[in-house]
Amino acid sequence: MSSLEVIKNRFESFDNMYSRDLRLQTFTNWPFREDCNCTPDKMADAGFVHCPADNEPDVVCCFLCLLELEGWEPDDEPWDEHMKRSPTCAFLLLNKDVNDLTVAELFHLVKERTKAFIRKVGGMKMAQLRDAYEKAQKSIQSKLHPG
Ligand SMILES: [Zn+2]
Repeated sequence: MSSLEVIKNRFESFDNMYSRDLRLQTFTNWPFREDCNCTPDKMADAGFVHCPADNEPDVVCCFLCLLELEGWEPDDEPWDEHMKRSPTCAFLLLNKDVNDLTVAELFHLVKERTKAFIRKVGGMKMAQLRDAYEKAQKSIQSKLHPG
């Protein structure tokens, strides 16, 4: 899973990824091109942005719900994989090109994107707090009951 910093950077840089064309442009070095389902076109259609990292050439992330997926197989259908793992993604549920959105729909997506980010970052911070709490608890326990 990506770090908090990576998630923050993605959230900010994906601000212009409502555009399918701009998403498509991120897939210039995508490994799946011919004779497969997960082509750059279908990946961009499904809301994904290509976010390759060292040793992880096929990492993608949804610009809206920030779902991260990797380990793609040629037969994978990008839209189906996205729906399977993030069935409440507002981009999938609306299923409209950015150029056809009403102002109200665009605001809805902006709101849902912000909510997804807060949920993700909040979840990570909660996990960090839980870890710190358990560590502190163990440390206190070992001082109260040495040996
Ligand atoms: Zn999504």
